[in-house]
Amino acid sequence: MALINDPALSPCPICGKKAYVLHDYDSYDRADFGWQAGCGAYCVGDGVHGIDDYLAPMEERPRVYHLLSKQDAIDAWNRWVKLWKERHNEA
Ligand SMILES: [Zn+2]
Repeated sequence: MALINDPALSPCPICGKKAYVLHDYDSYDRADFGWQAGCGAYCVGDGVHGIDDYLAPMEERPRVYHLLSKQDAIDAWNRWVKLWKERHNEA
């Protein structure tokens, strides 16, 4: 599972770090979880992203999941960034 920093990805609007996009699959049983993208620095309770537990609403998490292609994941992430900025009046 490789991390790819793609220049098409908007940086994280919360911490400003680079975003990643990757294909999430299990090479052992070949389960395919699709493409995901998100903040490369984010983890739950990191004290930076304002999300302290796994019960936080999905739309506040700097990560998008289960996309069908790399391009879909990039588009979904960039859309998430735009919506986040709108919610937080930074558009
Ligand atoms: Zn971030």
